[in-house]
Amino acid sequence: MHTQTAAAPALRRFADAADYRKRFIVREQIDRYLPGGRHFIDEGEIGAALAGAACAPANDPARIRAILAKSRAIETLLPEEAAALIEVTDRDLLEEMAETALAIKRAVYDNRIVMFAPLYMSNLCVNRCAYCGFRCGNEAQKRRMLTMEEVREEIGVLAGKIGHKRLIAVYGEHPDTSTEYIAETIRTAYAHLVRSPRGAEVGIRRVNVNAAPLPVEDLRVLKTVGIGTFQVFQETYHRETYRRLHPAGTVKGDYDWRTTAFHRALEAGVDDVGMGVLYGLYDWKFELLASICHARDLERQFGIGPHTISFPRLEPASGTDLPTTSPYLIDDETFRRIVIVTRLSVPYTGMIVTCRERPESRDACVRCGITQMDASSNIAIKGYSDFASEQHQEKDRQQFVLSDTRTLEQMIAHLAREGIITSFCTAGYRCGRTGGCIMDALKTGQEGKFCKINAVLTFREWLDDFATPETRALCEPVLNAELEQVRATLPKFYPTVKEHYDRICAGERDLFF
Ligand code: SAM
Ligand code: SF4
Repeated sequence: MHTQTAAAPALRRFADAADYRKRFIVREQIDRYLPGGRHFIDEGEIGAALAGAACAPANDPARIRAILAKSRAIETLLPEEAAALIEVTDRDLLEEMAETALAIKRAVYDNRIVMFAPLYMSNLCVNRCAYCGFRCGNEAQKRRMLTMEEVREEIGVLAGKIGHKRLIAVYGEHPDTSTEYIAETIRTAYAHLVRSPRGAEVGIRRVNVNAAPLPVEDLRVLKTVGIGTFQVFQETYHRETYRRLHPAGTVKGDYDWRTTAFHRALEAGVDDVGMGVLYGLYDWKFELLASICHARDLERQFGIGPHTISFPRLEPASGTDLPTTSPYLIDDETFRRIVIVTRLSVPYTGMIVTCRERPESRDACVRCGITQMDASSNIAIKGYSDFASEQHQEKDRQQFVLSDTRTLEQMIAHLAREGIITSFCTAGYRCGRTGGCIMDALKTGQEGKFCKINAVLTFREWLDDFATPETRALCEPVLNAELEQVRATLPKFYPTVKEHYDRICAGERDLFF
């Protein structure tokens, strides 16, 4: 299903890192998305929206409820509307916002959290981002890129022992790990099938990618090998801060190349794109409004907004003190506010909070509308197969330090106690429900029923293939309740769902809607 059919465009090759830095960016593939030279991140407009909200009465229930009604109608908010939500201080109104955020998440994505795992493929990097342990010149970092045999070893643990079905594959930026390497790792990950502890054939069904911005031709290559979401974090939308943290002369130093990464992806047909701000680098209010402006521009130019928004927050990393000295670090309360306002502002989007966060903070975010989490994560290069425990961390082999080291099984049990079903669904893009098509389905609530059904089917698989008897006993009532809801609320689908479910119980795998 992921094999290439069309001929791949010829990719440029580079003599060395210096040559790569000089020649990688295609200027024309920036300019065409910034008509008239006008950038969609307009700092003046964002500043005005924030100033306007700061001057207006902060806790006007009528105004806030009118904005919440727009969110419930799954309409993207204007920056000034999001700014009004940012300024709310009244506790009751804040709780109303949180409840609305969760209600929207349930309406769009049903009662499930999708699980994934990061797989770090390489920490070779030509850039010098001030906050990152992988930056070029950080002698403390042990450098390596996975061979294809090593990718298979990592998949052996992730898919065969832990039970993951979807990955976010992560790469530094370097000519040795350019598009051909990324494509080969994706192909390898999909192709490697292994046995679960109970003998089922299992493998990775969706490979999302977090990598540097790419030219259109390169993105077309990734499309042919079955890339899921193409994720690029903007880090900061504030130009001056961006310039300070990403030195001139590095590829990443080009703000416009990065801000137009998704425009190129959408043009290339990679239509699930994943945004993110690295919170802690600059004023969170500015960043939040800027990310909404980014989403709105994608909607305007392509009719497709972000498939996901992530919320990385600055964490300790080797060789940098920025994660403790930055004046813009945020507390958990603010983090939660960011998650709530984002859910309300871009109501259709998937939202991801990773193991960078402490368990309590992640748990609070589950109650405010996030849709995806990772668990059993190890971000050391070759960490899954080298370390006996998934919770083992080594600062010099990883980009930053993780705060939530719960295993997948612990996480699933925790969610089940809250009445939430874990999903390993990868059906959307395999059924062609991506981009504009899934946007419509999300906005009209149609996608939610597929979320529910596929959560039921994939959770059944995981419980049968990987769960201990205790976890299974804990989770069966949640699964049964969801199946019962399918019967009661989706009677047309139920007979086929039940038939698939029974086939899975009998040992068949990978049945989806
Ligand atoms: N090298 C590519 C790039 O920079 O776009 C790809 C991914 S980089 C390995 C993944 C992301 O990790 C970065 O985009 C950044 O947001 C995040 N990151 C870097 N340093 C971090 C830190 N100290 N704490 C938390 N997240 C960090
Ligand atoms: Fe390299 Fe990405 Fe780290 Fe920057 S954030 S140093 S580009 S790996």
